[in-house]
Amino acid sequence: MEKKYKVGIIGATGMVGQRFICLLANHPWFDITVLAASPRSAGKKYTEAVGAKWCMEEEIPESVKNMVVMNATDDVEIIAELVDFVFCAVDMKKDEIKALEERYAKAECPVVSNNSAHRHTPDVPMVLPELNPEHTEIIASQRKRLGTKRGFIAVKPNCSLQGYVPALFPVDKAGYKVKDVLVCTYQAISGAGKTFDTWPEMVDNVIPFISGEEEKSEKEPLKIWGKVDGDVIKDSDRPNFTAQCLRVPVSNGHMGAVFVRFENKPSVEEMKKIWKEYKGAPQKLNLPSAPKQFLNYFEEDNMPQTKLNRNLENGMAISIGRLREDTQYDYKFVCLSHNTLRGAAGGAVLLAELLCAEGYMD
Ligand code: NAP
Repeated sequence: MEKKYKVGIIGATGMVGQRFICLLANHPWFDITVLAASPRSAGKKYTEAVGAKWCMEEEIPESVKNMVVMNATDDVEIIAELVDFVFCAVDMKKDEIKALEERYAKAECPVVSNNSAHRHTPDVPMVLPELNPEHTEIIASQRKRLGTKRGFIAVKPNCSLQGYVPALFPVDKAGYKVKDVLVCTYQAISGAGKTFDTWPEMVDNVIPFISGEEEKSEKEPLKIWGKVDGDVIKDSDRPNFTAQCLRVPVSNGHMGAVFVRFENKPSVEEMKKIWKEYKGAPQKLNLPSAPKQFLNYFEEDNMPQTKLNRNLENGMAISIGRLREDTQYDYKFVCLSHNTLRGAAGGAVLLAELLCAEGYMD
């Protein structure tokens, strides 16, 4: 890539925003040009605005420390002039996020979003780059609806599904049709934008409810399995997903326990071979954030483990283990993904790289 793209981070002071800053500080294609957040942070230097909320292992990068945070809602048109596109991860009401992202798109500023607000807008692609990159085709229809030349919105799916959907989709595409999936997720507290300091109730505790998470975990896979049909992406009517999502006392990393039934059952060896050999568009295009090995199967009985494996390939690879026959379903297995890397900021950066490689950001 000869040119470097100028990018803005909307929600730069939040948990996901901080991850974006760390991932983009030395990115080969992207330069952080704008940081924006709520009116509480606007006008302050980044270090002052983020203050004690900074919770990454690494220090705040020198290049952003003194950047003055802009107002994400009042400065839309100014920000759109300064950057080639924005990443968006804000904690606001859903209809406010929907409207804000459309304002950026209509100001001819593409938006790569972490928020759930537009995930079911039928002409907004929801892309997990290794699985459904062809859904970006729908951007032409979305631009027509918005009346834009450059501006559009693309989203990444929810963090909860980023272990079991990557594990099951390639097996389905290899011809072993997935019929029913039961999944229980064990989700880290960073998924709620929290740490043990800011959420002490989570120490030595499990909370068996995450608002809206089970619905997202069951419904979003159907859009990923869906097809571009005219001016919309039509959701698939299969597989059937049922999910229970629990918050567990873990800082980062979502684990999933999966039970699956197929229409035509593969063997254990066939499933492991599909996982080992699977390469998606990011691997074929050699995108900067793509893991070399997307799906990693561990043979040891006690693997993968959250603490040991969540950072595999910079937190962008998926870990799978314990594949075995089940008494009620065909198989059961476990899977692990890093929720703020693969499941949030890292997944969005990979999606932006795909969109750049396909020419959508020019
Ligand atoms: P967070 O830590 O609470 O950060 C929220 C960000 O939104 C902050 O930068 C905040 O700015 C900004 N904000 C709040 N109100 C605003 C307003 N009225 N106008 C403009 N900016 C405003 O939240 P998070 O965990 O990063 O999550 C952000 C989004 O990503 C959410 O939609 C969440 O569902 C999604 N997401 C999170 C994860 C995860 O693992 N954490 C995973 C996938 C998706 P101030 O600091 O100025 O208040």
